[in-house]
Amino acid sequence: MSELTMTIGGQAAVTERTFGVRNPATGEVFAEAPDCTGEQLDAAMDAAAKAYRDWKADESARRQALRDAVGVLMGGLGELGPMLTAEQGKPLNDATLEVFGSAIWCTYYADLERPREIIQDDDEAFVEIVRRPLGVVAAITPWNFPLNLAFWKIAPALLAGNTMVLKPSSFTPLTTLRAGQLLQHVLPPGVLNVVSGGHELGAWMTSHPVPRKISFTGSIETGKKVAMAAAPDLKRTTLELGGNDPAIVLDDVDPATVADGLFGGAFANNGQVCSAIKRVYVPERIYDAVVEALATRAKAVRVGEGTDPESKLGPINNEPQYERVKMLVADALAHGARAVAGGRAMDRAGYFFEPTILADVSDGVRIVDEEQFGPALPVIAYRDLDDAVERANATHFGLAGSVWGADVDRATEIAGRLEAGTVWVNVHLALAPHQPFGGFKWSGIGVENGPWGLAGFTDIQTVHRSRTGTGLSPVTSMVIP
Ligand code: NAD
Repeated sequence: MSELTMTIGGQAAVTERTFGVRNPATGEVFAEAPDCTGEQLDAAMDAAAKAYRDWKADESARRQALRDAVGVLMGGLGELGPMLTAEQGKPLNDATLEVFGSAIWCTYYADLERPREIIQDDDEAFVEIVRRPLGVVAAITPWNFPLNLAFWKIAPALLAGNTMVLKPSSFTPLTTLRAGQLLQHVLPPGVLNVVSGGHELGAWMTSHPVPRKISFTGSIETGKKVAMAAAPDLKRTTLELGGNDPAIVLDDVDPATVADGLFGGAFANNGQVCSAIKRVYVPERIYDAVVEALATRAKAVRVGEGTDPESKLGPINNEPQYERVKMLVADALAHGARAVAGGRAMDRAGYFFEPTILADVSDGVRIVDEEQFGPALPVIAYRDLDDAVERANATHFGLAGSVWGADVDRATEIAGRLEAGTVWVNVHLALAPHQPFGGFKWSGIGVENGPWGLAGFTDIQTVHRSRTGTGLSPVTSMVIP
């Protein structure tokens, strides 16, 4: 695969230094990506600031550009999908769906109505709330859904009138770099700049004086650093961070049926989803049956290279994450857990790990208490439902959670007790562009998607037009002594 360039001010930007990108299915470097210099980052910020002057002025042009971006993405499916599989590891079908999903986000925002917010219209005044763009947005993304998560930011940020400097993860820079190149056909120069580099580049972006907003998706640990870097300049932040989502199974379910939903919610993208099911609480009475049904599915699922059309799960994306999953599973086994399926790395090149179901494990073991972000699922027995809810909530995480039960009203009532930004009933990972998504507690600040995500790329401006002539309004006269 040839070397991809960054895009700065509408131009291809090459660097002297590059870094290797590995194919997780082999562990081998298969491409080089540019390592952005400080001067180039300055140039990208400068280009974004200049482009902002015109871009913010014409909303209909922005909507049209997003519609045109849909055409670009759909036209690029055949190139972007395989590139994503090569750098991320996910099966080609899933990679293609991710490109498609990015187009869906552009479509949604291109057509999202923004109703006027008139809060007073009387003899005294006409008062309207207007959302103004912020300026340059620094956007930083992780490696699990590089393209989708970039478009969760690009589509609303650009629609709102902002311009952007975007940095993908150094594990998966290629698809984002290529999308950045392709989008230059439909965006004015400088509106979307894409740079690549390591963690240091992310840190430069967050402390750079130009951006007025940091839109960050990644780990809690890095999210805290981003919040600290943004604070001295009072930059706005949206932080989409890690999760340790609980699924609570109620006692009225059919074990085989619920296992299908649980397995899909836990092992999608090989468990590398911020809001995947990361621990399951099951009533003692049906514990063995649910564990057995999950194990059957884990043993049957086809794991392999993303380029193989038969593969349902690919490798773990990168070596540090692969080592972490190995360590967490080994730790659980050392603390008495039983691997009823999987439990080991696969004996082959690349970062493949057997889909793993861990039984006889409980809170207090690292794989239950921490985010594993990989293909290993602990299943925890409970006797008392209130206690299960309490244990599900006894964490700093609060991204999402789900409750599974035949009595949907009862399941919904339990779901409402979970301390999480999204709660699902009899489903998990139901995400959509119109549905806000964000975390409680350490799982994040702010939300993405829907009109609420769009609002996150704006500041409120109150436009108060007096109808009483000049001077103070009657209300103001009363409150100002
Ligand atoms: P990470 O925090 O290591 O890296 C994320 C991005 O931040 C990368 O682009 C990285 O280069 C950059 N970065 C690293 N150090 C930085 C710094 N000091 N300042 C600014 N940027 C910096 O996360 P990851 O390992 O790439 O992704 C996995 C994590 O992301 C998981 O915890 C997962 O749950 C989380 N995630 C959250 C969501 C969500 O929407 N809530 C979605 C996907 C992933």
